[in-house]
Amino acid sequence: MVTLKIRRQDGERVWHETFPVEETPGMSVLEALFIVQEALDGGLCFRYSCRGAVCGSCAMLINKVPRLACRTQVSDAGNEMVVNAVKWGPLARPVTRVAKGEILIEPLPNMEVIRDLVVDMDHFYELLDSIEPWISAGEDVPEGGNLMSPVVEQKIEVYTGCILCATCHGACPAAARDEMYLGPAALAKAWRFSLDPREPEKDKQARLEAVDNNSGVWGCDVVFKCTAVCPKKVTPTRGILALRRQIPKNRIKNIFNRRK
Ligand code: SF4
Repeated sequence: MVTLKIRRQDGERVWHETFPVEETPGMSVLEALFIVQEALDGGLCFRYSCRGAVCGSCAMLINKVPRLACRTQVSDAGNEMVVNAVKWGPLARPVTRVAKGEILIEPLPNMEVIRDLVVDMDHFYELLDSIEPWISAGEDVPEGGNLMSPVVEQKIEVYTGCILCATCHGACPAAARDEMYLGPAALAKAWRFSLDPREPEKDKQARLEAVDNNSGVWGCDVVFKCTAVCPKKVTPTRGILALRRQIPKNRIKNIFNRRK
């Protein structure tokens, strides 16, 4: 048997509840949650869809680490040490202690809880939208289309693997203290579009200006927590550092453009 210790929330009321689940070989935390919901408490709320680490819906805090429930094995999580179980920002209340062998499951940090393990993703998507993560190809599309070299394509591909699970956002200390901080996922996307040769220069410049502030690239603590937890190996910190190098070049370019 394995015990899931789940943080429950219904409006203002917050509590922890433990559920014993019979462990089967290869069982994921998501499967254990299904058993709780089907056999022990039908009111337990959590979000999921694909069950195969493609949709990113089941991101949650498992043993204080943001990750996908579908990708986390019960056998691994049940043997982990849960550090700082008591001290963790808003999720520190109510105080809880985790017994040996228990798996602590909480909602993703840095987001409003709707109920139990379901968080409100709206703000995360608004932050993403604010960097306009799309290409405005303009009217000057060359005959035969916009071609991209394999080298550039490879650089961009690292960032296109993002499934918008918000795991990185939940792990981010800058997002914890500044709710307007764009966050690792949006900033990684900003760099992805800066790399894209199909994007008109003026739009690249506008995007660089939009992230050139303390709630953008300069707010990052560069502690690589987002990179460590990303289930798709997106390396948002690397994108943020690349933006930091690109922005001064962009400022100089703007000065010369204005003088012309
Ligand atoms: Fe999830 Fe990684 Fe995308 Fe962040 S960068 S939203 S952790 S896939």
